[in-house]
Amino acid sequence: MSDSRKYGFTTTILHSDRQKPIEHGSLHKPIHTSVTFGYRDARQLAEVFQGKQPGYRYGRQGNPTVSALEDKITRMEQGLATICFATGMAAIGAVAQALLREGDHVVSSAFLFGNTNSLWQTVAGQGVAVSMVDATDVAQVEAAITPATRIVFVETIANPRTQVADLKRIGQLCRDRGILYVVDNTMTSPYLFRPKMVGAGLVVNAMTKSIGGHGNALGGALTDTGLFDWTRYPNIIDTYKRYVPSQWGMAQIRAKSLRDFGASLGPEAAHHIAVGAETMALRMERECANAMALARMLEADPRVAAVYYPGLPSHPQHKLAADLFSGFGSLFSFELRDGIDCFDYLNRLTLAVPASNLGDTRTLVIPVAHTIFYEMGAERRASMGIAESLIRVSVGIEDTDDLVEDFRQALN
Ligand SMILES: *Cc1c(COP(=O)(O)O)cnc(C)c1O
Repeated sequence: MSDSRKYGFTTTILHSDRQKPIEHGSLHKPIHTSVTFGYRDARQLAEVFQGKQPGYRYGRQGNPTVSALEDKITRMEQGLATICFATGMAAIGAVAQALLREGDHVVSSAFLFGNTNSLWQTVAGQGVAVSMVDATDVAQVEAAITPATRIVFVETIANPRTQVADLKRIGQLCRDRGILYVVDNTMTSPYLFRPKMVGAGLVVNAMTKSIGGHGNALGGALTDTGLFDWTRYPNIIDTYKRYVPSQWGMAQIRAKSLRDFGASLGPEAAHHIAVGAETMALRMERECANAMALARMLEADPRVAAVYYPGLPSHPQHKLAADLFSGFGSLFSFELRDGIDCFDYLNRLTLAVPASNLGDTRTLVIPVAHTIFYEMGAERRASMGIAESLIRVSVGIEDTDDLVEDFRQALN
């Protein structure tokens, strides 16, 4: 399979490692635990350090097991190159560390994963201005752009309220203005959506979630789609301009963030994620179907005040989501009617586990305002549309009837 693009998603992922020679005909890229890599000829070591020939030098900057996973993610996103990190947050943090300077400006969706919201507050304290806007409306993104805007950052489907960003129009806007468009694809996964299709320059995937998929390894990835012209980015250091321009961004991120801050993905975690990725398409199909069945059942029940799932026709961006994504995702959230305590409800569930991960094979539930969004306070929660009784559900691959029955009996 020399041209992986003519194969389907799962075929491509399953046979990705074999695109390069693997030791002893292994079908999985082995777990390489060596921290360093020796060379018989010291000149060769120097050339690797100088980027004049490919090779590994020290585990913090790269490892063969991690590289094989990077290739897989690049294929999934149909991008140019990928860098893996220890977590999804490290991948997002790398964008800020490597690409932003004092005086720069970022426009970010206000509907964000809680820790990404917190990261932008940190960055704002370090001399970078950050505007948080309603990214379901391209006009609000456009109004926030200034001559200092370097990055527009959005999530595909926002966690936990499931707002869908106006991804295509924001992409067009960024292209017109020459601004780097960074899209966090975690909630959709590369199986349901490729942000390259809407003009993203960089794509974030928290591999901890749907790509790894089993809740047994943390990991994050940044993919360069090849669409952004790095010669238009003012913060590229001269050192990295010795590469061809398409590589400037990733070269700077690999050195200035991965090397200098060191949030490197370990080879064991890379292996777990790579094995999980083989079944991502199968899991996503099942999870999307389960999420739809649960969302429909809950929406029809008078004891439920609201259900937020892009697959429901009542969702404000349902048409947009249907147009952009090949499925509506494995996450939804809902509010119970006044008088039903969300803790009591959660404690009546027998299958769904109160826990804070997403994209696990098991269904996980969490009372959002009291846990993951607790630190930001009631005012900010209200501005993000997070009700105090909101329950987030990360739907797993259990049998559909078992899940529907569990969520129904807990309403009694
Ligand atoms: C979980 C998540 C992250 C962070 O990933 P970690 O691996 O937990 O650091 C980032 N963005 C989104 C949308 C997420 O759901």
